[in-house]
Amino acid sequence: MGEFDLIARYFSRPVPEGYLGAGDDCALLPLRPGRQCVVSTDALIEGRHFLPEVDPLTLGHKSLAVNLSDLAAMGATPSGCVLALALPEVDEGWLSQFSEGFYRLANEFDCPLIGGDTTGTDHGIMICVTVFGHVTPGTALLRSAAQSGDDIWVTGSLGAAHIALKLLQGALPHNDSLLAKTRPMLEQPCPPCLFAAQLPGLAHAALDISDGFLQDLGHIIKASQCGAHVIFDHLPIDPAIRNLSEETVQEAVLSGGDVYQLCFTAPPKHRDAIETLAQQFHTEVSRVGSITGGGGLLVETLDGRRVTCANMGYQHF
Ligand code: ADP
Ligand code: MG
Repeated sequence: MGEFDLIARYFSRPVPEGYLGAGDDCALLPLRPGRQCVVSTDALIEGRHFLPEVDPLTLGHKSLAVNLSDLAAMGATPSGCVLALALPEVDEGWLSQFSEGFYRLANEFDCPLIGGDTTGTDHGIMICVTVFGHVTPGTALLRSAAQSGDDIWVTGSLGAAHIALKLLQGALPHNDSLLAKTRPMLEQPCPPCLFAAQLPGLAHAALDISDGFLQDLGHIIKASQCGAHVIFDHLPIDPAIRNLSEETVQEAVLSGGDVYQLCFTAPPKHRDAIETLAQQFHTEVSRVGSITGGGGLLVETLDGRRVTCANMGYQHF
């Protein structure tokens, strides 16, 4: 199968009115009057971001999910995406599953695939997705916008993706039922896009938790030149991992990556509005601490024990 047949068969589903999809030199995407364009791109490399044997349906989902998560972290609404693929071979079974997983999520969040690039490679698979979104000018949720006295919130739960990865890597003892419960969190993350798009005006700073809660919250306090006080007992530990040893749970929750949920800060006066929004969009939210004037990042239990974590999260280099 040639490159053009491949694109026509797997990556050329119809796009909404006002868009131009695959087939010309560029795609066209409508601009929304009075809005600012938000852009992000993420590359996924075989062996580094996903295991070679991963189910292509979930890989298609995850390739877009990690990008939608970045849009959510800005409080943006998705408007479209492009996909660059480098493939060592044309495997139609793989392609049809990958594209199905990708399109399902794209449809769910109204983020049409409007173009891309397809090439061969002598190395492993590389998947690069760029997403476009929109936000009211001046309201995007910047990492630098946290203020002393803000509450710190986390959506969803923490730790399950990390435990699934450890199980798949053989770094934790074999456990089929634990893997079955945690694997979807690793392979099919669901960023809270609809909830996040309503946060501008309520929240100050936000980011998506991709490299680990502590490391990512560290980015907010550094950019905002403030400190943070987190109550460990208030962190949303994923129910599937609660029975593991205290040390394992702490590491998974504080430094486990691949979460693709949000950490955001907001003034206490918006607590009720945030809870209502969360209910409206079926999003779990936990208030886990507060932003302080300085003093770094402190994690304590309710009874005042300091929680430390040797591993601060994932770093690529
Ligand atoms: P060009 O030669 O201008 O780079 P291509 O031949 O690479 O164009 O691509 C032809 C058309 O197919 C373009 O409109 C491009 O956006 C689209 N396309 C290529 N690969 C993909 C893909 N993986 N997903 C979606 N659209 C794609
Ligand atoms: Mg091209």
